[in-house]
Amino acid sequence: MQTDVIVVGAGPAGSTAARTIAERGAQVLLLDRAKFPRDKPCGGGVTIRCASLLPFSLDPIVEDVITGARMKVRGFREVTREAPAPITYMTQRRRLDAFLVEQAQTAGVKFRDGEGVTDITRLPDGSFEVKTKGDTHHARVIIGADGANGVAGNRLGYEAAGESAVALEGNYPYPDGVPAEFRNRVVLHFGDYPGGYGWIFPKGDHINIGVGGWKSAMGPQLRDLLQRMCRTYGFDVADLQNLRGHHLPMQRRGMVMAAAGSAVVGDAAGLVDPLSGDGIYGALRSGSLIAPAVEDYLAGRVSTLAGYQLALERELMPEVETSTALMEIFHAWPDPFVWLLQHFGPFWGGACAAIRGETTYVDLTYRLGSPGRALLGPVAKAGRFVSSRRVARG
Ligand SMILES: Cc1cc2nc3c(=O)[nH]c(=O)nc-3n(C[C@H](O)[C@H](O)[C@H](O)COP(=O)(O)OP(=O)(O)OC[C@H]3O[C@@H](n4cnc5c(N)ncnc54)[C@H](O)[C@@H]3O)c2cc1C
Repeated sequence: MQTDVIVVGAGPAGSTAARTIAERGAQVLLLDRAKFPRDKPCGGGVTIRCASLLPFSLDPIVEDVITGARMKVRGFREVTREAPAPITYMTQRRRLDAFLVEQAQTAGVKFRDGEGVTDITRLPDGSFEVKTKGDTHHARVIIGADGANGVAGNRLGYEAAGESAVALEGNYPYPDGVPAEFRNRVVLHFGDYPGGYGWIFPKGDHINIGVGGWKSAMGPQLRDLLQRMCRTYGFDVADLQNLRGHHLPMQRRGMVMAAAGSAVVGDAAGLVDPLSGDGIYGALRSGSLIAPAVEDYLAGRVSTLAGYQLALERELMPEVETSTALMEIFHAWPDPFVWLLQHFGPFWGGACAAIRGETTYVDLTYRLGSPGRALLGPVAKAGRFVSSRRVARG
């Protein structure tokens, strides 16, 4: 098939890139190797900041609305805080991703599932030949949206994102409905998971229980840590269904994300938020930022998609860098920060405002004043040192 644009991968990044590019008048073919609807390892938490990026409501697929958090450090007392307004929607990736693909199809995108891309070649005229198991397609632009460890970025010559974090999660079923103690709240457990946290997210007929953190520190003991998380809340890991683990790819400094006629978006570009592990936001944001650059490229106004990289560097990367610094500080000294979240209104309010997208990490650091902002980098560096010593000691 001959088309203007091929998007490889129909997760949130790919379906959003396909939709926003098609809305600007291009012909788009969206390919995914999985048969839809398909699930993927994910907590299925969609923050309000993230949902606000979409020009349509997620109501048809929302299974719970989060208005508070139950927070605990290691064996200390759990504290529940209510948010001033909803902070996160809970859904299942099987439903979210199929819904986002439907919106792309409504915008005119041609979708083929069960068609995995096996190879991509750049032809002498600058266009691309894309081979799948059963077919060969041609396009002027190709977008790699095939997630962590995808083939597209590799075949197009992009450096792989860093795999600094891993997570393991499973579902505990409640066929007659989730008990009130878990509804409308996320459970967040800190301190036992280097570089991450444990969570319980409520859905319609089950809860999702998971743990995530630095690959170097947690990788080999992920299952034991999930068992510890389960035991803390009265479950056994053996009772979880669909137990799955996966990488959370993170940006490397100076990563190239666009070139002549090609680009990578979402996890393929390592756009997971280092502090929260939220990757759907970076997926939707990059999937939208790519569209103007593709329109300019197809119209012959520019010779590369570098405009997308510049837009990312302007609009998203300062947040990712600040999030990295806050993550290093938080994980080196979790106790005082969790205490502040539990007991100090302005701190909890700031976190809720960031999750709702009413403020940004960068704006929050301005509250520290100039001296505080100047100290952020050095304190993050000290935090990294403290954490690495702790991890090395085991
Ligand atoms: C355990 C876990 C829990 C998480 N929880 C959350 C959470 O609660 N909230 C949040 O915001 N983020 C969460 N994340 C991160 C989030 O899941 C990802 O950041 C997000 O899915 C990235 O979207 P994407 O579209 O870039 O990639 P993906 O969602 O991974 O989609 C990639 C798509 O590409 C397809 N594909 C792969 N290879 C090929 C190929 N060769 N040809 C064609 N198609 C291909 C795949 O089938 C897939 O559909 C979590 C991650 C993990 C691992």
